[in-house]
Amino acid sequence: MDCIFCKIVKGEIPSYKVYEDELILAFLDLNPVSVGHTLIIPKEHFENIKDIEDKVLFEINLRARELSKVLEEKLSCEGISLCQNNGLGQEIKHYHLHLIPRYQNDNLKFYVNDEAKSVLEETFSRLKDN
Ligand code: 5GP
Ligand code: ZN
Repeated sequence: MDCIFCKIVKGEIPSYKVYEDELILAFLDLNPVSVGHTLIIPKEHFENIKDIEDKVLFEINLRARELSKVLEEKLSCEGISLCQNNGLGQEIKHYHLHLIPRYQNDNLKFYVNDEAKSVLEETFSRLKDN
């Protein structure tokens, strides 16, 4: 399989690693949207949230929490946004969680616009009614 992130795991493509254990690898994003933008991936190839194993998903989230603290301390950012794309909007089809350090006036926009909010509210209220 021709997967860039599997190649990074195997060391066939270079990366700037920030954390590694037997299940997980974290490295800096090649095209960061902010200073310290980091990706956490499973070493095993899972495409996305739908097929990743529970245990691996759990471990990734634990490491995300730890790494967030480290990034905040080392980079003096004022927040960390976590983002994980599935399907449309997902460039690399190997599960990855983005850790995006936030800085005052960084002008980063995340995708919850007013239209999306009203659709979500409608859907949730329908679910609650049922
Ligand atoms: P997606 O849009 O799939 O959620 O995000 C893919 C991310 O992988 C992008 O932020 C992109 O910059 C990053 N990326 C793509 N290729 C490479 C690479 O070869 N090395 C690293 N470190 N990051 C990459
Ligand atoms: Zn892969």
